[in-house]
Amino acid sequence: MPYIAVKGTKDIYKEEAEAYSYVESVFSSIASLYGYHEYRTPVLEYTEVFQRSTGESSDIVRKEMYTFLDKGNRSVTLRPEFTAGIARSILENKLYASEDLPLKVFYYGPAFRYERPQLGRYRQFNQAGVECIGVNSAEFDAETIALATSILNALGFKQLKVKINSLGDEASRNAYREALKHYFGAHIDSMCEDCKQRLQLNPLRILDCKVPEDQEIVKGAPKMGDYLSEESKARFNKTLSILDDLGVDYEIDDGLVRGLDYYSEVVFEVASEYGALVGGGHYDGLLKSLGGPDLSGVGFAFGEDRLVSVMKDNNLLLNSKHGLDVYVMPIGEENVNKAMMLSEEIRHYGYAAESPLNGGKLGSFFKKAIRRGAKFALIIGGDELAQGIAQLKNLESQEQVSIKLNELEKELNHYLDGEGE
Ligand code: AMP
Repeated sequence: MPYIAVKGTKDIYKEEAEAYSYVESVFSSIASLYGYHEYRTPVLEYTEVFQRSTGESSDIVRKEMYTFLDKGNRSVTLRPEFTAGIARSILENKLYASEDLPLKVFYYGPAFRYERPQLGRYRQFNQAGVECIGVNSAEFDAETIALATSILNALGFKQLKVKINSLGDEASRNAYREALKHYFGAHIDSMCEDCKQRLQLNPLRILDCKVPEDQEIVKGAPKMGDYLSEESKARFNKTLSILDDLGVDYEIDDGLVRGLDYYSEVVFEVASEYGALVGGGHYDGLLKSLGGPDLSGVGFAFGEDRLVSVMKDNNLLLNSKHGLDVYVMPIGEENVNKAMMLSEEIRHYGYAAESPLNGGKLGSFFKKAIRRGAKFALIIGGDELAQGIAQLKNLESQEQVSIKLNELEKELNHYLDGEGE
């Protein structure tokens, strides 16, 4: 084959594409219920945006970014995540000054990371997420977590469990980093090369190491909870008590640190009966790191690819198909135009309709209707047309009725919306 998709990218079409748009529409409608508005930022940003905010010590910035020089010799990067670009945009457009705070925004679209492609991991992947920026409070943190669980509920997941941890304020994290430096310093010779670098850049990252031998060492590391300041402890407890009030099921996971440098205070993941599906947390220094005011935020991101594949494997995509409602079949060349006009009329009533515009035999139309997944056939022949009627056939039950074309909308509502069953 002469041309193939770039390594780590994939084509999304047919049912899978419909599954993505279904997930995106449920996601955006639930986010809207919580007062969020859509935000679209460019796929390309100047590289510093990610270096400064996503963090020099994160795996993403250290080795996974698609960074290149454009023709004007500027270093640009395909976004590896959305939060940094949104923060840049809020600052550039001074929305923190002109809009009521918190700014609540949601986004979805492709992101790019130069990772080793494997099952469920791509170099171009899709994220959907939210940011609530400009108010620093345990209440907004908790509401954001509740939103993540509501979205998963609306998508049909049942047994949701929030894994939650606190990374504390800056002072807590500095104290914890020192303790980790001390602990891992004694083991670092036997750890992986990445961890050696992480020890220098940000020892918190070591907690995320996936190398099995290193994970054994990580198990004995000091726990964040023992280094939290009184304020951070109180704040964490407040978040937990609001989650209790909201009926959100959670479990404290003191090994949860998340992969981005900007998080502080609460971090979380939401797992369903099929594993972790969304991750996020609170951040303090993000806007400031980009030269803006000292505003906090809280947000999360779903990996849409994983979400869609888990939903497909577990039959949660039943509502996502945009099937064809009616296949309009003209008997005889002379009725092709009439079939076209009727298809157009049916679409005006909100039903999906198609017809074989190049004509053909009735037997082949039925085969085509089945292949195209049509629910009904509308058969129009000359004699019946002259009487203002046509045959509507349910392709599943095979039941056929005569319907009046001058009452087409009523007839379709009756038979297609199930009242005629
Ligand atoms: P992160 O921004 O690393 O916290 O990731 C947020 C979500 O994006 C995760 O839940 C992942 O499922 C998803 N994700 C991150 N990287 C990839 C990738 N390379 N391929 C597919 N999904 C990804």
